[in-house]
Amino acid sequence: LLSLSGVRKSFGSRRETNVVLRSIDLEVASGECVVLIGASGSGKSTLLRCINLLETVDDGIITLDGVEITDPGVAVDRIRGRIGIVFQAYNLFPHLSVIDNITLAPTRVHKVPVAAARRRAMEMLERVGLPDKATARPDDLSGGQQQRVAIARALVNDPAVMLLDEVTSALDPELVGEVLDLLAELRSEGMTMIINTHEMSFASRIADRICFLHGGEIHEQGTPAEILQAPRRERTRQFLSRLA
Ligand code: ATP
Ligand code: MG
Repeated sequence: LLSLSGVRKSFGSRRETNVVLRSIDLEVASGECVVLIGASGSGKSTLLRCINLLETVDDGIITLDGVEITDPGVAVDRIRGRIGIVFQAYNLFPHLSVIDNITLAPTRVHKVPVAAARRRAMEMLERVGLPDKATARPDDLSGGQQQRVAIARALVNDPAVMLLDEVTSALDPELVGEVLDLLAELRSEGMTMIINTHEMSFASRIADRICFLHGGEIHEQGTPAEILQAPRRERTRQFLSRLA
């Protein structure tokens, strides 16, 4: 479904270059849930931003359904419509109601008629368990509810893949569970997902495959049992032991 080959991304000028992603190769199958782990600054967020075309790669190719999305001529809005992304801080527009937050991109960017967009938004609110919050303002919701709205908003275009960047790390501990349960539910429904997280218990529960990012590359990958219980490489072991 999604394929990254030789993806390279650096920041800075020619004199002071910070190579964040050196050469990333990654294949994600339809329905697969891949979790990215790695130290702070290892490039997990940058990788998701490259996939969503929020960053331009320096080199390498990303394809979605066989279409090269890193091609400069690609219709960026259309590609973004097929890739849902949710960030750590929910990024809802505070002056818009919940339902208007969800219908904004479909009506403005993708030219979906308002009535159809609102119907679809209500379906998504049902799906994330918040059908009674359509007219609420984001400020009137708990952090967990806001994050579920952000997930509903990312689901509204029926994306081929969902990118989730530490979606629970800004939440109060008692609100984390509802968001993680929702992600587990999406996975069981067959949603293809790439998830960044620092929470290994969650990674082990939801991942089909865990990729450890180090030195701008996927240093080691495998099933949760392979990576979390029997890592083969020293760097992976070091990273995990520091968390313990
Ligand atoms: P964390 O676990 O803390 O979220 P991360 O693995 O997501 O870390 P990134 O946010 O991808 O790491 O950052 C990787 C590196 O890229 C960091 O050194 C960061 O300073 C750098 N970086 C990211 N975005 C930019 C940018 N827009 N301009 C310059 N440098 C950037
Ligand atoms: Mg990050």
